[in-house]
Amino acid sequence: MHTNSSIELNQTAYQNNIDFLRKTFGKKVQFSSVVKGNAYGHGIKEFVTMAYDCGVSHFSVFDVEEAKLIKEALADKATIMVMGLVQEIDMEWVIANNVEFFVFDKVRLNQAVKAAKKLKIVAKIHIEAETGMNRTGFEKRELSAVITTFKKEKEHLYLKGLCTHYAGAESIANYYRVEKQIKKFEEIYQYLCDNDLKPEIKHSACSAASIMFPETRMDLVRIGIMQYGLWSSPEVFVNYLSTKKNKTDPLKRVITWKSNVMSVKKVSIGDFIGYGTSFLAERNMKIAVVPIGYSHGYSRSLSNQGRVLINGQRCIVVGSVNMNMMTVDVTDVAAVKKDDEVVLIGSQEELTVSVASFSDFSNQLNYELLTRIAKTIPRKIIE
Ligand SMILES: *Cc1c(COP(=O)(O)O)cnc(C)c1O
Repeated sequence: MHTNSSIELNQTAYQNNIDFLRKTFGKKVQFSSVVKGNAYGHGIKEFVTMAYDCGVSHFSVFDVEEAKLIKEALADKATIMVMGLVQEIDMEWVIANNVEFFVFDKVRLNQAVKAAKKLKIVAKIHIEAETGMNRTGFEKRELSAVITTFKKEKEHLYLKGLCTHYAGAESIANYYRVEKQIKKFEEIYQYLCDNDLKPEIKHSACSAASIMFPETRMDLVRIGIMQYGLWSSPEVFVNYLSTKKNKTDPLKRVITWKSNVMSVKKVSIGDFIGYGTSFLAERNMKIAVVPIGYSHGYSRSLSNQGRVLINGQRCIVVGSVNMNMMTVDVTDVAAVKKDDEVVLIGSQEELTVSVASFSDFSNQLNYELLTRIAKTIPRKIIE
């Protein structure tokens, strides 16, 4: 367990985001909290516990390992939906534990039938339709076979949902592609209904689609990035603001990542700092060593770029980010000493290091930055 840094999850901020999203989508739309990638780096078990306390009880994950972590945290209190990988070896566990899952090919459908028969229970399935992303999903021409299987295996298969995923709803450049997908999805829904296989619900929206294409909200939205208080892209934020009188960000960042100064030292003018020659001291400097490096998820691409907060001041990473350490310039920060708090993401006194700012200093997406944060760092919920 790392104790050289810690992560706080702000429950008040999360409740604010959930209230905003619920109000935006309305009562008829079910909310599924997407917690793949260790809840976007927030820590899946701590995060779902907090979310449950804020009234969220439907979670979407990528794989069975994540589904099991939710079960450990919440037992049978929540509905879990696996959007990605279910290996054959896990199929019985999934069905026996009432976990819902996407099915996008015949192999998995047959595995589900086999496991449900053995367990003598019904598997709750979401049929994923290929609408244009070209990743996973049944093509329309494959659906007649799917319909036949569902009709034949009525006692073992329940069609909980029909779903799809959009290929880049966060960018207006993809507008026509997404519009085509929406149309195709409706056609597929109609085709199933015409063949007496009406899914209980249909769902397609991620954060970006839910804002940019409100018609994609349907019966349930699968919201990842926005519940953590971040926008999918600047375009989505601007699109949202453009229709509002009040031009303030309704979302609040949930995560804070903090560490402490490990040591402080002086460097003379003309010396290089750290490995190689990437940073030359052009004056006499004072450097703080922070015990965070790329092994903890602080990307090497933030070498000579990243910003952290120490004693209420913004300090720049100098030299390269090492595996377990980095050095920051504290020349102009008075009285820095060992153990002083270092904020990597979050606020200190008047200043903030936002998640979005990382994409200005490196080419990381907010999604990527968050999911890189090491799983072993302790997470704690604060009010
Ligand atoms: C990750 C994911 C989402 C959520 O995406 P956000 O942009 O974080 O809201 C929704 N649906 C699927 C299938 C996903 O993989």
